[in-house]
Amino acid sequence: MDNKILILGAGYAGMMAATGLDRISEPFTLINKKPYHYFTTLLHEAAGGRGEPMDYTVPISSLLKKSGSSLVLDEVTAIDRANNVVRGKDAEYSYDWLVIGLGWIPEYFGIPGMAENSMVLTNIETARHLRDHIEAQFQQYLEDKDEQHLRIVIGGAGLTGIELVGELTDWLPELCVKYGIERERVDLQNVEAMPNILPQVSENLREVAARTLTERGAWLRTNTKLVKVDAGVVHLEGGETIEAGTIVWTGGVRANPLLTEAGFTVDRRGRAKVNEYLQSVDDPQVFIGGDSAWFEENGKPLPPTAQIASQMGKLIADNVSSAAHGQALKPFHASLKGTLASLGREVGVGNVGNVSVKGIVAGLAKEATKVKYLWDLGGLRLTVDKTTEVVHR
Ligand SMILES: Cc1cc2nc3c(=O)[nH]c(=O)nc-3n(C[C@H](O)[C@H](O)[C@H](O)COP(=O)(O)OP(=O)(O)OC[C@H]3O[C@@H](n4cnc5c(N)ncnc54)[C@H](O)[C@@H]3O)c2cc1C
Repeated sequence: MDNKILILGAGYAGMMAATGLDRISEPFTLINKKPYHYFTTLLHEAAGGRGEPMDYTVPISSLLKKSGSSLVLDEVTAIDRANNVVRGKDAEYSYDWLVIGLGWIPEYFGIPGMAENSMVLTNIETARHLRDHIEAQFQQYLEDKDEQHLRIVIGGAGLTGIELVGELTDWLPELCVKYGIERERVDLQNVEAMPNILPQVSENLREVAARTLTERGAWLRTNTKLVKVDAGVVHLEGGETIEAGTIVWTGGVRANPLLTEAGFTVDRRGRAKVNEYLQSVDDPQVFIGGDSAWFEENGKPLPPTAQIASQMGKLIADNVSSAAHGQALKPFHASLKGTLASLGREVGVGNVGNVSVKGIVAGLAKEATKVKYLWDLGGLRLTVDKTTEVVHR
């Protein structure tokens, strides 16, 4: 049986599929834009000056130990299912079995001007750009004393938005000291259309999170709808405008558009429907994981999280290998271990299983999840290497 396996994307799903296949010595080709895997769940740390952006990456080649597999650096531009071919900017790649882990892009919900005039936190480059931009705004303020440079508006109060706010509440005071600017002059606003922040955690923890961030100088504006963005200006429903030197959008995600373009059956977020084995319902030669996959459990689609993407990637490694050798496939069952949100460098809130945690305990639990992921990805060696750089900053 033919078994040329192609993996697209080295994120949480793609990397777990690759390392899983590597462990069982099943050869594959992995196509990714960059030579490194990055920790998307920690991008707010890189954007908030906690560590150097490249500290949040691992060279992909260091994670693939067996020979027979290859990493190709290319950007996928199309998936041609009729001919079993993936097209990239540099070349075309044929496959017998395809694994798609191409992740997500920002969802702007059609808000006029948002895509053009806001920054996002999607990869290492955007995290570095945001960090450098905020610092450049402080420098600019020293030159022209325009308070707009010191105003930061973050749209969206989900995990990404709130973790970014938390990180900035630690970093902005440091920038104030560095540039000799009073902290009171810096205006950090989070704007959210829904009545609550952090819908993933229980109500009492949302209150703890809101109190913590407010005490640290952030202004959390719930029930506040962002309706338009111009260069440097956010427009709210009701007519209020906010002039801000930094505008960030974290309000939603949708699947990589290549899936819709390839004609897969997709949901309203562009995720391609998969069966219980994580195979495309349109094409049994294609397995899809992570934020690109539309998988329903108990009648509800699973949320787009790294936790689930990693679990999917692990199972896809086994299933694509079994499929290639004509063996039985295993069904996917998500194991939801909870949600933890950091609120800066030391504290957080969240649920671990059925237990609610907050403050330093939640901060430590969040650190533990980072170690667990490193262990799953690269075993002891990667865990030891990276914990010194990332975890203990
Ligand atoms: C700041 C932040 C904090 C988060 N915190 C958490 C958290 O605490 N817990 C949690 O579970 N989830 C969290 N998430 C969500 C989580 O990061 C995503 O659900 C996860 O990254 C999805 O994994 P994935 O493998 O589907 O895609 P990704 O990790 O996005 O990987 C996709 C890969 O595909 C590559 N790629 C994309 N397009 C192409 C192309 N055309 N050609 C070649 N390669 C391409 C990308 O470079 C990338 O390597 C957070 C997200 C953010 C932004």
